[in-house]
Amino acid sequence: MNEQSSNGVITTRGEDNYGLQGKVALITGASQGIGRACALRLASCGATVALAARSQEKLQTVAAEIADAGGQAHIFSLDVSSEDSIKSCARAALADLGKVEILVNNAGITRDGLSLRMKLADFDDILRTNLTGAFLLTQAVISSMMKGRWGRIVNITSVVGQTGAAGQANYSASKAGMIGLTKSLAREFASRGITVNAVAPGFIQTAMTEDLPEAQKAAILSQIPLGRYGSDSDIAAAVAFLCSRDAAYITGHTLDVNGGMYMG
Ligand code: NAP
Repeated sequence: MNEQSSNGVITTRGEDNYGLQGKVALITGASQGIGRACALRLASCGATVALAARSQEKLQTVAAEIADAGGQAHIFSLDVSSEDSIKSCARAALADLGKVEILVNNAGITRDGLSLRMKLADFDDILRTNLTGAFLLTQAVISSMMKGRWGRIVNITSVVGQTGAAGQANYSASKAGMIGLTKSLAREFASRGITVNAVAPGFIQTAMTEDLPEAQKAAILSQIPLGRYGSDSDIAAAVAFLCSRDAAYITGHTLDVNGGMYMG
């Protein structure tokens, strides 16, 4: 059974909490938007959540929300564009919590521009943050999952990783790369009881999309058969499902959560 809590996030109140009671989940980009919603949702299923991002102040606010709702949250400093930061975040989470069984690679940025004029730095930075960061953090925590012979990795990709988007060569390349990464990791770790899946959001109302011109938003809305933008809770629900016991036989999959704007 699902309930809508006062902060707008749908929570799970099932008999067995999706089998996630007591699991330890590390969520990147948990300071706001989709990452925050994933953290609240997993915590509502009884998981202990490790919230990671650059903004410690915002993480503290999310951790307090989780604690107020009766959940367990810990905060960790992380810059996914830095290998050193990734290693120290993973070390700290493993030292403090003993294990990481669920990893949600959610942190991501955009830096849009037409490819004809795109600077190499604007291409490289997006790849390093969105794709290389997810790969390195997976490397840093995978042995913990392997030891427990159970794990869930969910990578947050995007509909534009599937369709491409004018002005987003860097971002769509990083998100398409995440889909290939997901399938390869799924094959490598399946024998260890670890599933690796991706969630591909469509247009979700968060800080990332709020500054788009109204005309562009209206054009996108007209392409969404379900007739509304997505919410961070829509994505968190898909992430929680892929982490759950119910999704034990799903791996290497990309789950579209896009209101029908792309049907692969
Ligand atoms: P958002 O509100 O802008 O949040 C992005 C999150 O990523 C923040 O928590 C931010 O935290 C974190 N982050 C950014 N750079 C980071 C870095 N170098 N190291 C660590 N954390 C970093 O965006 P969102 O909409 O929730 O997006 C979340 C994910 O969903 C992204 O991967 C995005 O590409 C994907 N997505 C979003 C949409 C959409 O329509 N919104 C659609 C498809 C896919 P700090 O700034 O505190 O570090």
